[in-house]
Amino acid sequence: MKLTFLGTGTSMGVPVAGGFGSEIPTGDVRDVRWRTSAWIQTNESSILIDAGPEFRLQSLRSGIKRVDYLLITHEHTDHVGGLDDLRSYNYVQNQAIPVVTTPTCKESIERRFYYMFGPNKTPGSVDLDITTSVNPFWFKDCRITPLPVMHGTLEVYGYRINDLAYITDSNYISEETFELIKGCKVLVLNALRWEPEHPTHFTIPEAVEMVKKSGIPEAYFVHMNSYVHHAEISKRLPPNIKLAFDMQTVHI
Ligand SMILES: [Zn+2]
Ligand SMILES: [Zn+2]
Repeated sequence: MKLTFLGTGTSMGVPVAGGFGSEIPTGDVRDVRWRTSAWIQTNESSILIDAGPEFRLQSLRSGIKRVDYLLITHEHTDHVGGLDDLRSYNYVQNQAIPVVTTPTCKESIERRFYYMFGPNKTPGSVDLDITTSVNPFWFKDCRITPLPVMHGTLEVYGYRINDLAYITDSNYISEETFELIKGCKVLVLNALRWEPEHPTHFTIPEAVEMVKKSGIPEAYFVHMNSYVHHAEISKRLPPNIKLAFDMQTVHI
């Protein structure tokens, strides 16, 4: 199984439009971060996690030819802003794309992208077949388990796909969800910034503690802001924990 980080940035991306929050650019390509999203390839399937505002660009940059399944973590625009651009996959694949997400995200998508659903659906708009069950299921050669976690007061889903646990936009993981990720080989986890206390995201030191608690031997952090300089922050991390960067691939 191959994981490709399509984007590793926080909601505004890095650098930020208008210059807010930016520091002197480091010149390190790893400090340019598109919105957080991932692509998983196995022998039998091509699975996308989230479709943010840069999805079309991410797809072209990575060469995504099929989207057999879409796992959406939650309804914030940095994770669903690119849904429209899945249309072209409908045209190629001749069927609706199956989607799993949270109940509140399904409701939000159906309201915001109203023209994709119902009897008055705009011809040619994207076809999504959305379910919200938390029950584990098989899709081809992938065992997929939704992982409920908290993002402030909003419940979002991480996902376990075989031996990969992928959790973004979270600041609380319940004991039940820690049970669900037991035995994974790789953990992807959001880690917004080094500085303490954020109401909806783990900070980097908090995320390190979560990795230790999980017992998962290898971890990658995503959803980082513009103040996280890859080279400098990487030196502060244990050797089994890395800051992910855009287009990085991991074999699991
Ligand atoms: Zn986000
Ligand atoms: Zn979010």
